Amino acid sequence: MRTKSLKKNKINVVTLGCSKNVYDSEVLMGQLKAGGKEVVHEEEGNIVVINTCGFINNAKEESVNTILDFVQKKEEGVVDKVFVTGCLSERYKPDLEKEIPDVDQYFGTSDLPVLLKALGADYKHELIGERLTTTPKNYAYLKIAEGCDRPCSFCAIPLMRGKHRSTPIEELVMEAEKLAAKGVKELILIAQDLTYYGLDLYKKRNLAELLRELAKVDGIEWIRLHYAFPTGFPMDVLDVMREEPKICNYIDIPLQHISDPILKSMRRGTTKAKTTKLLHDFREAVPDMAIRTTLIVGYPGETEEDFLVLKDWVQEMRFERLGCFAYSHEENTHAYTLEDDVPEEVKQQRAAEIMEIQSQISWELNQEKIGKTYRCIIDRKEGNYFVGRTEFDSPDVDNEVLIDAAKHYARTGEFTDIKITEASDFDLYGEPV
Ligand code: SF4
Repeated sequence: MRTKSLKKNKINVVTLGCSKNVYDSEVLMGQLKAGGKEVVHEEEGNIVVINTCGFINNAKEESVNTILDFVQKKEEGVVDKVFVTGCLSERYKPDLEKEIPDVDQYFGTSDLPVLLKALGADYKHELIGERLTTTPKNYAYLKIAEGCDRPCSFCAIPLMRGKHRSTPIEELVMEAEKLAAKGVKELILIAQDLTYYGLDLYKKRNLAELLRELAKVDGIEWIRLHYAFPTGFPMDVLDVMREEPKICNYIDIPLQHISDPILKSMRRGTTKAKTTKLLHDFREAVPDMAIRTTLIVGYPGETEEDFLVLKDWVQEMRFERLGCFAYSHEENTHAYTLEDDVPEEVKQQRAAEIMEIQSQISWELNQEKIGKTYRCIIDRKEGNYFVGRTEFDSPDVDNEVLIDAAKHYARTGEFTDIKITEASDFDLYGEPV
């Protein structure tokens, strides 16, 4: 039974996975709009494009389930066409074509022009820097490079995103200017490895220079750094962070583990001593910097001793922000040649123990904020609260500042000084001053 309700084609882009996928979906939507197509993001549409994630098991499962949901809707005549792109499709295209043949077509991560063709639009090179952002209008992701040259043993990203390619500074500044013209005040810089920026294009690590140029863009008030890498960290970035008020005193640097045998097996190119020194250098250079990290527990061969080393270190380093994930055994990665010998329940138990420690640390650090006033950006109103963030908090992953909407008013999309009156482990409560 085919429904006749939808007259004009409407393309619904569905984004799964990380901020880089959000960025890619926004570029696709910008091209479709310029091609005269009606395009929406995660709303009703008779043509669906699913931008998938293929990073680890949980993410892959979510992607497959989303594909199956839309194939079911196609079966029921609710949607007419289902297209799949992104990392899962890049990594498993032949298998997916065999196992879920009802998808109209599968595309890889660098197939934008072909995907556009299938949707009846042509790729327009002149649109570089143009996209339809899907984030609240006050912030936007800025992808400064694609791919990764690192050999991390557990990681499938280089298989899905290819070698590292930096985007030229001029193009990124132009893109930032266009975003600022649309009201974006905060740029969140993303890549697979932010600190590798420029090595391919300029034969040197050039993140500091990029930051200085982006800081010149009128209208942009906050620039935030995500996905730094410890080995070969460009220390001049810390000078820019200290000197340039627009660069948030914030850095996201996934460290994955700290026990030397595990770091060696993970091929991270660093040691406990070097990593600890780097973090001390961060704190010395920018004393109030908020450091976010991500850890993996349950990696092949991780002993109770390795885990104790990690636990003690997390306790000692007192990260402002920390996420911890159970190791996922990924085909075609180097670690896949190792035995996945840590039982799943032990992996989950270890991840829970680390987050238990972190929630206590986060609670203690948040108590110190009570009575202090912070410049906050207000992202949205949700239920009884206006929801904002300090410069030490990135969207979706860090603390939020909650302002009681029954007592106070805060303008969405604008900066407001907020005095913190109360704090929990992962949220702050405050009032405008
Ligand atoms: S730097 Fe990140 S994206 Fe690159 S291989 Fe390592 S974990 Fe993967």
